[in-house]
Amino acid sequence: MSNFNHLKTGLSAPICLTWELTYACNLSCAHCLSSSGRRDPHELSTDEAKEVIDQLVEMNVFYINIGGGEPTIRSDFKTIASYALSKGVGVKFSTNGSRIDRDMAQWISEESYLDVQVSLDGATASTNDEIRGPGSFQTAITALEVLQSAKAPSVKVSTVITNKSISQLDELYALSASYGAQLRVTRLRPSGRGALTWASLKLSQVEQEYLFRWLSCHRDVLTGDSFFHLSPLGDPLDGLNMCGAGRVVCLIDPVGDVYACPFVIHDSFRAGNLRDTSFMEIWRHSKVFECLRNETGPKSCSTCNAIDSCHGGCMATKFFNGLSFDDPDPECVFGRGAMTLSRVKTSIMPDLSRSRPIYIRPNKSAKNSTVASRKI
Ligand code: SF4
Ligand code: SF4
Repeated sequence: MSNFNHLKTGLSAPICLTWELTYACNLSCAHCLSSSGRRDPHELSTDEAKEVIDQLVEMNVFYINIGGGEPTIRSDFKTIASYALSKGVGVKFSTNGSRIDRDMAQWISEESYLDVQVSLDGATASTNDEIRGPGSFQTAITALEVLQSAKAPSVKVSTVITNKSISQLDELYALSASYGAQLRVTRLRPSGRGALTWASLKLSQVEQEYLFRWLSCHRDVLTGDSFFHLSPLGDPLDGLNMCGAGRVVCLIDPVGDVYACPFVIHDSFRAGNLRDTSFMEIWRHSKVFECLRNETGPKSCSTCNAIDSCHGGCMATKFFNGLSFDDPDPECVFGRGAMTLSRVKTSIMPDLSRSRPIYIRPNKSAKNSTVASRKI
């Protein structure tokens, strides 16, 4: 049985649960999927976060991806992550590196089942900083150095691939390896601030084909479910190879709202709130997730020979471009999405109200942490 047939009606618990602990961030990346910057004053408290973890344990969720915003900005970040680890829930967290000092790196190196991924959107400062802001390249590199010195295992470098960085894939691969890290490449989606930059940063058809060939030759590069829409170009890439939104994937936001996937933070995909409904109830019985599990696939793709490897592509990329479930992926490798997109007049605008970055104190031990000490 294919992954799709097995997973399309959903599992009893998510296998890829992202938890944005805070929307607070000291950067203002051009493609930020959650339009992060300002902290939401109604964030879940430490005790509420622990209660959520208890619920996840009850459902046998075996790991969580913690993100943000910059999750390490929360003063209880270690407390929450350590609580999850103590309950047997593995933690992977994403960071821009601003708060990775020696103490944090030491803690990471000592904990089993704790992975860190440092975001870097180019192999050079000029490429990365154009997307992530001045000084962010050096900050990430400093974090990688500190992690390497502490002998932290399982470090990843996470790159959202754009037309600015596609020519630097080999350099990104080598740079990651030089710090003992594994490269992870993800797809640019028009979510959050990405709605404003997607059209100018997305890959061309030629660049998509290059990326597919490059990934096919670098099977040790992690991709999550990012590029299954490229699989019609040849042998399917490794990974889930389907849209798992509400089936095996979901997101908890800083105030406890649960969404179908990290890239669809929008009322249309909000399944409930953890302050009034348990996670188990939302995951198993919410209307939004039930609808997603009953989706039979895009009608306009039904005649495509590649439907079994592409399944019509990414729901988030369609939605924020103003397309429906029934349309092809806007980056369909056969050009069907581009044709559909050219007829669409309005795209969906995300909430950008929290977009202004905050100021945080520089790391004690990280040298040259230019972003952290920058007055914003
Ligand atoms: S909507 Fe897109 S990003 Fe979200 S789970 Fe589906 S394919 Fe992945
Ligand atoms: S037509 Fe649909 S299923 Fe076929 S490749 Fe394009 S998006 Fe994928």
